[in-house]
Amino acid sequence: MNSRIAIMIILIMVILLVIVISDQVRIRYLEGKLNNLLILDEEGDSLVVYHPDQVKERLILITPGFADRFTNYKSPLSPHYESDYAFQDLVEFYIENRFQDHYGTSRGTKEKRRKHEGIDLFVAENTPVYPLADYGVVVQVSDNPNHLEWAECWDQAGKKDTVQIEYGKLVKVLYPDGLTSIYVHLNEVNVQEGDEVRGDTVLGLTGVTGNLLRSGKKSHLHLELRYLDGESFDPRWRLHWRGTAFVEFVKRLMIND
Ligand SMILES: [Zn+2]
Repeated sequence: MNSRIAIMIILIMVILLVIVISDQVRIRYLEGKLNNLLILDEEGDSLVVYHPDQVKERLILITPGFADRFTNYKSPLSPHYESDYAFQDLVEFYIENRFQDHYGTSRGTKEKRRKHEGIDLFVAENTPVYPLADYGVVVQVSDNPNHLEWAECWDQAGKKDTVQIEYGKLVKVLYPDGLTSIYVHLNEVNVQEGDEVRGDTVLGLTGVTGNLLRSGKKSHLHLELRYLDGESFDPRWRLHWRGTAFVEFVKRLMIND
């Protein structure tokens, strides 16, 4: 055999060997990395923990920090999270009359009483309003200053009925954990139904539309919070936590693999 060909063969074999060894080293390295990864899932009613090599279908991993970012709530008047923020502080700060502007106070006429299903935040006319979380989808928009919505009411005998209320221009946003926020009496609407919005998206500007046009009340943001089924709630009792709840939970969760 020609000695030159022999050297070529040896050289090719050495190169192949180097490739195989470096691949093995790389695989070991990646396996070590994957061992650091635990997947928390639910199976029936119980929590299960498994390793990445047991994953059967496409899986998108969300870090606790990410989950916190997209499910924590912030002020509708601020594009960013304040460092020491509580929803109740905001409510106390912008509400002028605690017997009228809070959630649950009585409204309507003698014949048809109803519950005030939002909070009234008195800010200057044309103040920008933002989503309550860093991610949401616009599920309803009205650019009509006389837009009507149906609401529950009670007649003098206490019998349940429905009544139409002039909301005016509004935007409704749905968040990843199933809450919606509705911004009412706006002067300007800046988004469309189906838009994906971030924490700093300007949804619209506060104003004087709907029943504010005739009531003589000052411009304010009427903000409603509702569950996915449409039931409203008092934001003071739901949006009161501060900071990184999920990160703290995962830190304290003891996981045995
Ligand atoms: Zn109101």
